[in-house]
Amino acid sequence: MPTKPLILVLNCGSSSVKFSLFDTDETGELLEIQSGLAERLGQPEAQLKLRAKKETDTLEIAEADHERAITTILDRLRDDGLFERIVGIGHRVVHGGEFFSGPTTIDDDVLNQIESCNRLAPLHNPANVVGIQLTQKMLPGKPNVAVFDTAFHQTLPASAYRYAVPNSWYTDLGVRKYGFHGTSHQYVSSVAAQQLDLQTAGVLTAHLGNGCSAAAVVNGTSVDTSMGLTPLDGLVMGTRSGSVDPGLHQYVATQLGIDVAAVTASLNAESGLLGLSEVSNDMRTLIEAEGDGDVNASLAIEVFCYRLAKELAGLTVALPHLDVLAFTGGIGENSSAIRKRTVDLLGVLGFEIDDVANSQNGSESNGFIHAASSVPILVVETAEEQMIAAQTLNTVAL
Ligand code: AMP
Repeated sequence: MPTKPLILVLNCGSSSVKFSLFDTDETGELLEIQSGLAERLGQPEAQLKLRAKKETDTLEIAEADHERAITTILDRLRDDGLFERIVGIGHRVVHGGEFFSGPTTIDDDVLNQIESCNRLAPLHNPANVVGIQLTQKMLPGKPNVAVFDTAFHQTLPASAYRYAVPNSWYTDLGVRKYGFHGTSHQYVSSVAAQQLDLQTAGVLTAHLGNGCSAAAVVNGTSVDTSMGLTPLDGLVMGTRSGSVDPGLHQYVATQLGIDVAAVTASLNAESGLLGLSEVSNDMRTLIEAEGDGDVNASLAIEVFCYRLAKELAGLTVALPHLDVLAFTGGIGENSSAIRKRTVDLLGVLGFEIDDVANSQNGSESNGFIHAASSVPILVVETAEEQMIAAQTLNTVAL
């Protein structure tokens, strides 16, 4: 039997590395055959979990950095004799600035451009660069493809992406809205349009995981989104504040006698659901705490849903017509309570939840969770790794 080509997907976060290995079945579908997640990199508890054929293997890799974690993953794939079958490596790259509007084969120039975006995403892009350099070294001659979180949102009109700041900040410094989670918004909006068999589609998407963002998508084209210059903007997230008054930075820095970098670090790591609740950044934990009467947890959830509903309502001005709202991400896919509380705030737009379908996460109703009289609401399982693999396969096949 001829061996099937494999696509490796590498997703390097600020303190984690995820990988997935896909092969193609007879119908051309991509099938994940191995995956893994290295977490808490740089800390004593750093761990690498590997999953193949439904078996999970956990390796302790105390204090490991990105390089060691990725090398451990690649060593394992080589020892399993899989290197020869790999025909392309897809890298999730967080920030592509204005350089990239689609998946791109990585050469020296492209890598330089990605590195030049490090200043726009200092927590993420440097890790992406490490991943690219390592696969170039360990799998020489195999094509590497960058799939950018920002690319899908490069279609935003200037009215949506420009901030009302001095023009030279845009022309000289690249200060504008870029938007993130593009692979997820692209996939989820296309599934929603297909599910409803829409010829022209005005879609709202809500990607709600540890990071959260919403987008307005018209006929497969992103027209506005909640994240901005950085992934700190927009919705309330696990540990990120989302949008705040730009005057806050100076006020807090002056009052606490700290610099702006320290304020930004707090807005990234100590804010959001964690900051409001002082309980957890994890929505499941907060819902439980609220059930136990914790008022701070309750307030955090309230703010999360209110800000989400307000953002979704605001994004409708970018749509010619409103056809569907699609939820995705760990919270969007699994939390009936958060969907219900958010949609209850959006009755003015014609949205109403069906409680039974919602409680089943749409599993018995093709993903749909709305009442008969409502604008459609859908739960869609996101498939970022699968999308990166598909885009990598298409790009290497060109
Ligand atoms: P992600 O980053 O997409 O993996 O999503 C992580 C978030 O999803 C965390 O806040 C989890 O608590 C949340 N989550 C996962 N399952 C549930 C659930 N059943 N109910 C509420 N939140 C959930």
